[in-house]
Amino acid sequence: MRTLLRKLWHDFIGVLLPRTCIVCGRPLVPTENVCCTHCTLEMPLTRYKACEGNPIVRIFWGKIPIVRANAFMEYQPHTNYARIITHLKYKNRPDIGIYLGRLIAEDLLRTDFFKDIDVIIPLPLAKSRQFSRGYNQSECIAKGIQQLVNIPIETTHIRRSRANKKQTQTHKHLRHENVKDIFSLTVPCEADTKVSLTPLEMMNPSPVTTPSHHPLANKHVLLLDDIITTGASLLSCGKVLSQIPGIRISILTAGVAGHHRWGPRLPEEGRY
Ligand SMILES: [Zn+2]
Repeated sequence: MRTLLRKLWHDFIGVLLPRTCIVCGRPLVPTENVCCTHCTLEMPLTRYKACEGNPIVRIFWGKIPIVRANAFMEYQPHTNYARIITHLKYKNRPDIGIYLGRLIAEDLLRTDFFKDIDVIIPLPLAKSRQFSRGYNQSECIAKGIQQLVNIPIETTHIRRSRANKKQTQTHKHLRHENVKDIFSLTVPCEADTKVSLTPLEMMNPSPVTTPSHHPLANKHVLLLDDIITTGASLLSCGKVLSQIPGIRISILTAGVAGHHRWGPRLPEEGRY
């Protein structure tokens, strides 16, 4: 009820007030959305362009079966550009997610980033947090991407059991502990699944197994989040997904906070 009232209030205010740029506050012209043209052109992009060995993919080398990774823009918390993310998360602005998703897709369409990806998985929120927010911001970004790239969005196969403390309030070295074991698969995954025996096999009772029939087995999934800081949440979720036979994982975020200079220098230096 509280979420519904907040949305109605937001819609009511939106009718009364002129649409303004979320970064500079100037009125938007009808063809602009969320950001004015000037602020969109000046956006602090990472310009990684999904290049091999970029600082984001290095975070995951040797830890999960990572294929490629990218972050779209620098998250600079003390600039007006931070409002793009903070309003998306805390000011009931799911439309910003759609806007960001479209920008990200436009940026990557010139690369082979989306090549072979079977499904987009927005990083799940805990039920309580999604209920209080009214939406999952990563899912909004996924919907924006989907408007330009025809890849299905999957939200049912992995869940988050509890909301972690805000990462910004957690000491860097405790962040990995903070998100440990908070994700789980909704469909159990076993490497081998026993199947019913045929009459012929019943006469010769040797164990019969078949490869896992998990819906995500052998798929290339794109794990999507709003911001990457240390990568602890994405890594925790990626490790759970890694239990699925044959799965390959790519990672995409709207923003990156801080510097990412750690991680092995070459993929071969890590182990899956
Ligand atoms: Zn502006």
